[in-house]
Amino acid sequence: MVRRDGARLSKTHTGEMMDDCRKITGMISEGLDRELTWSERMRIRVHLLMCSGCSAFQKQMIFLREAMRTLAERIGGHGDH
Ligand SMILES: [Zn+2]
Repeated sequence: MVRRDGARLSKTHTGEMMDDCRKITGMISEGLDRELTWSERMRIRVHLLMCSGCSAFQKQMIFLREAMRTLAERIGGHGDH
């Protein structure tokens, strides 16, 4: 059985991330621009299972990317010359 709220993880510090979180969020935002390797994606996936902060970050990035795409399509009709 797996406890969803990992007792070892202290996520009480607002604004302060675990060191690994910086790498993970860095990879997530990089993943928007380039294709991540298999091992990078696995690392992100495993981390997201136990880190709600990065999980929320990823959802936000996906949402933002979709929003940007929609916006770009909407204004794309008007000349960008
Ligand atoms: Zn994290």
